[in-house]
Amino acid sequence: MARSDYRCAPIAAGQRFGRLTAIERVANNRHRAQQWLFRCDCRTETIKSVRSVRLGLTQSCGCLGLERLAEHRRGEANGSYKHGKTYSPEWNAWRAMIGRCRHPCSSSYDHYGAIGIDYCERWELFENFLADMGPMPDASYTLDRIDNDLRGGAAYCRGNCRWATRSEQAFNRRPRRPNATGFKGVTKRVTKKAGTYYVSAIEKDDRRHHFGPFSAPEPAYAAYLLAAGALYGVLPKDAAAFAAGLLSRGARDLPV
Ligand SMILES: [Zn+2]
Repeated sequence: MARSDYRCAPIAAGQRFGRLTAIERVANNRHRAQQWLFRCDCRTETIKSVRSVRLGLTQSCGCLGLERLAEHRRGEANGSYKHGKTYSPEWNAWRAMIGRCRHPCSSSYDHYGAIGIDYCERWELFENFLADMGPMPDASYTLDRIDNDLRGGAAYCRGNCRWATRSEQAFNRRPRRPNATGFKGVTKRVTKKAGTYYVSAIEKDDRRHHFGPFSAPEPAYAAYLLAAGALYGVLPKDAAAFAAGLLSRGARDLPV
């Protein structure tokens, strides 16, 4: 059973979603999502997926969006609209965050709302979100949590969020299972000619930066950390623990 089916309970004829009234079930779409025929208040008949009406992504045949757009443009023209940013990149990021955290039908809910990731009360209002985050630098940016371990309203709030490029966000993602060396970004190599050595690498914007070879994993990781700081301005979570361990052992062998 597709996940959208068990997450989104079936709907019944006559049920209303915004301007849409359910009439009858029709064939699934090509993604095998359940679809219904709906009649809009404007009398247009339209086929929509159950998931999209349940999520509130679809509330009309399309007439509502057109009306809102017109209202939005009028508002922008006379300056009366609340924030004038509906459907802007910032607004889309805010709406997506709400879906991930609060809507069990959202495809990302399992990795967000279901494990306790939520947004602060202040961000219930888009105006507050925008005031705290500021404008998105450009459309390639995404809403990124700095500390991925924070739960509840501390996850998405002013202190823990920033606009990040996709590669910055990928870097900040929780580390994969510890690798053989025990250090993120460090690989152990064994060759007949060179024996055992360690290298490290970090990626940014599709470019991979390589460091090494080193005789031990620690200096390889130190090179990785220096690059992480320089390229991303952030360090992996284990950086402080690593530095503390080095101080106790002496850091003389490390590259500067
Ligand atoms: Zn309509």
